[in-house]
Parts: sequence; structure tokens; C-alpha cells
Amino acid sequence: MTELKVNFNRLWQDLEELARIGQDPRGGISRPSFSLPDLEARDWLKGKIEASGLALRQDSAGNIFGRLPGKSSQVVMAGSHLDTVINGGRFDGSVGVLSALECLRRLKEENFELDRTLEVASFTDEEGNLVGDFLGSRAFTGQLNEGQLKNVRTQFGPPLIEIVEKAGLKVENIPLAAKERPEILAYLELHIEQGPVLEEEEVPIGLVTAIAGKRYFQSTFVGRSGHAGTIPMELRQDAFISLADFALRANQLVLREYEDDTLTIGRVVLKPGSFSIIPGEANFSLDLRSLDHQKLEEMEGEVLALAREVASTRGLSFYQQLLDSTEPVIISESILNKLKAISEKLGYDYRLISSGAGHDAQIMASICPVGMIFIPSVDGLSHVPEEKINPSDLEKGANLLLRTLLDLASV
Ligand SMILES: [Zn+2]
Repeated sequence: MTELKVNFNRLWQDLEELARIGQDPRGGISRPSFSLPDLEARDWLKGKIEASGLALRQDSAGNIFGRLPGKSSQVVMAGSHLDTVINGGRFDGSVGVLSALECLRRLKEENFELDRTLEVASFTDEEGNLVGDFLGSRAFTGQLNEGQLKNVRTQFGPPLIEIVEKAGLKVENIPLAAKERPEILAYLELHIEQGPVLEEEEVPIGLVTAIAGKRYFQSTFVGRSGHAGTIPMELRQDAFISLADFALRANQLVLREYEDDTLTIGRVVLKPGSFSIIPGEANFSLDLRSLDHQKLEEMEGEVLALAREVASTRGLSFYQQLLDSTEPVIISESILNKLKAISEKLGYDYRLISSGAGHDAQIMASICPVGMIFIPSVDGLSHVPEEKINPSDLEKGANLLLRTLLDLASV
């Protein structure tokens, strides 16, 4: 029992095989949900699950599961996602699904008598290339309804209804995933850190204590366009200058009053967008994140009030639309304690860490206790072709996952 370890060569081999699906000419991986590469990766995973002798199941949201039955049908689940951002990396999501698969395979090989059933899960569209993040886990936990999905156009243009049909799914059935769900006792997710902390401190394992909640706003300053040569500076209603003023002041506000929280403007489009025309419109994304619900609400209120103040002082209008929101999650103490104890038993150095990125675990936390294991990201990079991990860190993370799953599956 103390010797039980994953077959790491087999796990690494799986990661290599998967990384051949969806190779982007720019050097990374492009497997957005229900693209041809994603469909190929889905089939590949289903083949792996069946070849491992696990029971394969796909639900109405296209989430894929492999089951190792125990005496009780109550499920302890581990997983993540196989979809990627465009030209992203090969480890984000993949390490969670394939490590969980390897854990179940090892336990099956050893003929363990499990008290509880184990399942590996691969959730649909974690990256939100279709309609916002976490389509699969949101459907699975009952946080989507048909009305929200029916007329949705995806980021890539075609309606959701057409895209999911390619995978043999029906939009109106996606919310049924929650009804098809077995009783879930706990959910574990192994993931790359996507930041620099673990690498900097040379610690192989991060045990996540909290996951940040977020608010995504599509926002606009509307002023007036005009000739760049004929309208005096003091008479302008330049939407870009308002945005620049707002961006700097909002950054200062968050730095000053919301320690540990973040504000990011990642996308700006100026209209009409010409050398010689004063921009009359500045459209921009606004991403706010916090580990604390109350602080997130307060920051949202203050930041939006600041935008309105900047607009009115400068004679412009400000509009915002909430595109997506998730709530912060505190990780279950009992699972965290198990992860700590097992890390110590295995002799793995760990530190506690919070997650600024969202994960399926955050959505799963609405139906069961969850736990998250981070492994270091080389140079802190993620969502880029250069995303990298050290194999020995993954081996430790996967062994910790294996032993924790076994513990949770035993009464
Ligand atoms: Zn991920």
C-alpha cells in the first residue's frame, strides 16, 4: 500500500499523444470546444477510457466520464478539461484529466475493493470559447437553463445550436446533465498553477485554499468623433482619453484599497479607429477578481462609480454589461487536511496557495466539497505555446491525487 504509485511513463505517454491533437502552426495547441481537434480529442479520451476497462459515459452537456465502480454508487470524482484556448499550452486541463485517468487505471490493475465509486471527468468548454466559462461543469451542477443557451451566438460566429450538433448533442438537452448526475461525494482537480509562486519557492505541490470569483464586464465610453486637425483639444469628448484616465485611476484604486484583488483591461477597441479621427467610442473588457465575495461586490461598485465619474467630468457617457460572473470559493477544510496529511506521508514539500484563475472545481463546489492540487508552471506561463511543467512535479501531483482518491473512496 505504501508503494502504490501511478505508472508515470504511461501518464506522460498519454500527454504526449494528446498534445499531437490540435497542433497550431504557431507552436501551441488549439482545441476550442467542439472544433474538429476537440472532437478528435474527445474520441481519443473515450478510447482510452474503454481500453482501461472503465465504464464510459457521456452526458447531455458532452461531459465525458470513466467509472470504476465501488460497493456504493456514491461517486468520488476527479478531473478537469481537455479543451484549450487558441494557441494555448499542452498541460492546462490535460494534466488533471489524464492524471485522474491514470489513478483509476492503477487502482483497477491492483484490483482494489473500493467502498465508493470513482470517476474521471472531462468537462466541456472550461475555457469558455462558446458562451462563457465552464459550460460543462455549469450544466452538470444545474447552473444553466435552456433559455440561457437557445439563441446564443458563439465567439466564433455560428450559433451554439449548430456547434454542439456536430458532437451529437442538442442545445435544449444541455441542462439535463444535472438530472443525469450521480450522487457526488467529493471532487478533486490537479492543475498547473498558471503563475510563478511554486516555481519561485521551489515547492512541487500547491494545496489550494481558495479560488477567486470574478466579474466580466463589456464596457464603453461614448464621446464624440471629430477631425483630428480642426477640433481644439479643450473642446473634445475623446473616448480614449476617458478610458486612459479611468484605467490609471482604477488601477490605483485597486492597488490602494483592494490588496490581493485584481483589475485587468485586456481588450480595447477604439471607434472609428483612424489616424486622423478623434475616437468617439472606446469599447473595453473589464475583469475584476477577488477571493472574497464582499470585497468583490465593493470593488465592482467602486470601479463602476469611478467610470461614471470620469465620464461625467469629461462630458461623455459610460455603459457596461455584465457578461459573466463566478463567486469565490473556499476549499473544504476536511479535504485540505487530507491532502496535507497525505503529502506529508509521501514526503512531498507543499505550500498553501490561492487561485486567481477559475477552474471547474469552483463550479463543482456548489454541489460537493472540492480539493485542488497545483503543480508548478515553468516561468509561470500558461495559455501560451511555451506552457511547460517538470515531469517530476507532475509525478508527485499524480501520486498525491491517487492516494487521496483511494482515501476518499474508502469508508
Ligand atoms: Zn484549466
